[in-house]
Amino acid sequence: MTQTPSLSALTSEYSAHNYAPLPVVVAEAAGAWVTDVGGHRYLDMLAGYSALNFGHRHPRLVAAAMRQLGRVTLVSRAFDHDQFGPFCAELAGLCGMEMVLPMNTGVEAVETAIKVARKWGYDVRGVPRDEALIVVFGDNFHGRTTTVVSFSSDPDAREGFGPYTPGFVSVPYGDLAALASAFHELGARIVAVLIEPIQGEAGVVVPPPGFLAGVRALCTSAGALMIADEIQSGLGRAGTTFACAAEGVVPDAYLLGKALGGGIVPVSAMVSARSVLGVLRPGQHGSTFGGNPLACAVAREVIAMLATGEYQARSASLGAAFHERLASLPSSAVSGVSGRGLWAGVTFRTRSGRAVCEQLATLGVLAKETHGSTIRLAPPLVITEDDLAWGLDRFEQAALDSQSP
Ligand SMILES: *Cc1c(COP(=O)(O)O)cnc(C)c1O
Repeated sequence: MTQTPSLSALTSEYSAHNYAPLPVVVAEAAGAWVTDVGGHRYLDMLAGYSALNFGHRHPRLVAAAMRQLGRVTLVSRAFDHDQFGPFCAELAGLCGMEMVLPMNTGVEAVETAIKVARKWGYDVRGVPRDEALIVVFGDNFHGRTTTVVSFSSDPDAREGFGPYTPGFVSVPYGDLAALASAFHELGARIVAVLIEPIQGEAGVVVPPPGFLAGVRALCTSAGALMIADEIQSGLGRAGTTFACAAEGVVPDAYLLGKALGGGIVPVSAMVSARSVLGVLRPGQHGSTFGGNPLACAVAREVIAMLATGEYQARSASLGAAFHERLASLPSSAVSGVSGRGLWAGVTFRTRSGRAVCEQLATLGVLAKETHGSTIRLAPPLVITEDDLAWGLDRFEQAALDSQSP
């Protein structure tokens, strides 16, 4: 506790203020629990925005990382290494796809998809050079690069960072008629639709039933790629390996990140059919760290853990109890609950999300607001039933304290 103020002061003095962290300074973590520098324990119900789906320092993942640290960690893609081919083959297998392009952060997978979709549009579809359009959705979140914030509808993310990259068309999320009319008007130039099957940052927004299947059908009939950004929704979070599966939808490409690195190293990837990623030739795209041996070794263990279906099943079954409990929160405090699996957005009526999260931290629960008064809950999929109930007891207390008079 005594050290907390000085550590926070260093952060505040020397780090850019691009985040506004809660007043908790973490020193250690294991599973679903973190301990701060003063020895206080907190239940982590954010799980690194789903980067920690397997909890902190999962023994299997730490062991995979340690084994690889003793062998080789980086070669660059100038040479092949013994983890690379197996990682690509195993990830393609998990996705039911044919080709993989590994990067590091999520937004790099998104950037990769934008480049590949444009190139595919010119080389395969025959769209005139520099005419390609990609459809995105209102309230999307796909990361923070200049191109990606160019098609954000969040003023905080976008304002002051222009000039913006052209080539994107935005339609309201969940509005199939708007997507159909975009295709009607601009279909000859639309090479892809980039979609979050559940919008995480927007508040864990689940689209209306039939929407994902409708997007798939419109993309198929227009000959455009459906690119599913499953960086947050995928790898078990929503109770299935991919959130698209809720409607039996198979996109043309998955974008993965966050949990793919097991909470240890950043690992992201675009995964698609050979006809899509197959358009790239040497020199056209790359990354020094993308697909490095350490990243591949950890991600291979993540893929092996997901291959059993155990974590997806846990997310689905614990998620059912979780949503039942959240649905019973007093409506005088909570105006809505959304989400699927072990993933929820809870909107408060009377208090800011920030105020609720500050109270939760004092109660020993870590969570984070998305926008305004919506709180995202995304506990690690390894959380025990008892710990989840403990966390929900605290969350309920915060809700009871937030009731309007
Ligand atoms: C987090 C996220 C990204 C960006 O990932 P980074 O690793 O932060 O670059 C992209 N898309 C979605 C849906 C995300 O949740």
